[in-house]
Amino acid sequence: MKRPGLGAIHEKILELLKGAPQGLDVHEIREHLGGTGAIGDQQHLDKRIRELRDYYHAPRRKVAGRWVYVYEGERGKAAADDGKITPRVRAEVLHRAHQRCQMCGRTVGGDGVKLQVDHKIPRTWGGATVSENLWALCEACNQGKRDYFSSFNDAEMQEIMSKESVYERIAETLRLHAPEPTPSWLLEFVANFDDFQDDWQKRLRELRYPVIGMVIPPTLRKLPSGKREAAYRLEKWVDLPANHKFLIKEHERLTKAANAKRRLSGEAK
Ligand SMILES: [Zn+2]
Repeated sequence: MKRPGLGAIHEKILELLKGAPQGLDVHEIREHLGGTGAIGDQQHLDKRIRELRDYYHAPRRKVAGRWVYVYEGERGKAAADDGKITPRVRAEVLHRAHQRCQMCGRTVGGDGVKLQVDHKIPRTWGGATVSENLWALCEACNQGKRDYFSSFNDAEMQEIMSKESVYERIAETLRLHAPEPTPSWLLEFVANFDDFQDDWQKRLRELRYPVIGMVIPPTLRKLPSGKREAAYRLEKWVDLPANHKFLIKEHERLTKAANAKRRLSGEAK
């Protein structure tokens, strides 16, 4: 079957994933493709996988403690994601929202708001039309969010979203906004994009570890309505080293060891 936009490299990745029911992480995929020289950098590979997902279910899942891509079959007849929300998915999202706007908390019964189902991460940034990427907003919040998002550069956001590291996604989003603060909810979406729920606040704290050294204090962001919402402002940027995940883990390990030692010497007294 002809898949517009897919080439030999996509076929190769698909073949690999189909042959590995336990899933493959990006490094394994790269290794398998390595000899061909067809895949350049990490971003390039991420992009190819995302293109594949227009036609196939290949989510990233945490299996036995590591993130892998798992092939789960073809998408339905509506091959590419056209952004349309099926009645079943719409009902599921509204049910989950309990008749409440998921941004401002106003309700259908109490406040008379009408709820609209909206893509958290817009499709122009690479967000998919799947239940996890949808939420219910009242008309005012939806409009406010649309206005806010229209000030972003779609290509830049798509580039950020394609980054494999949750740290990079969070940090780059903050940088794109600086010196303006970034709303907490946006950081949460960006962190959880493609992943199962990540502890985005912990990831943000880790960016502040001395081994990384970013300065990202919490603050408030003023909304057009005059209300304020929780946000974070990037006050000092640091280029993330390639081994940032390792540095963060190592810092935690050393801090833990130092604390244990301190406790022990405290008990000895
Ligand atoms: Zn609302």
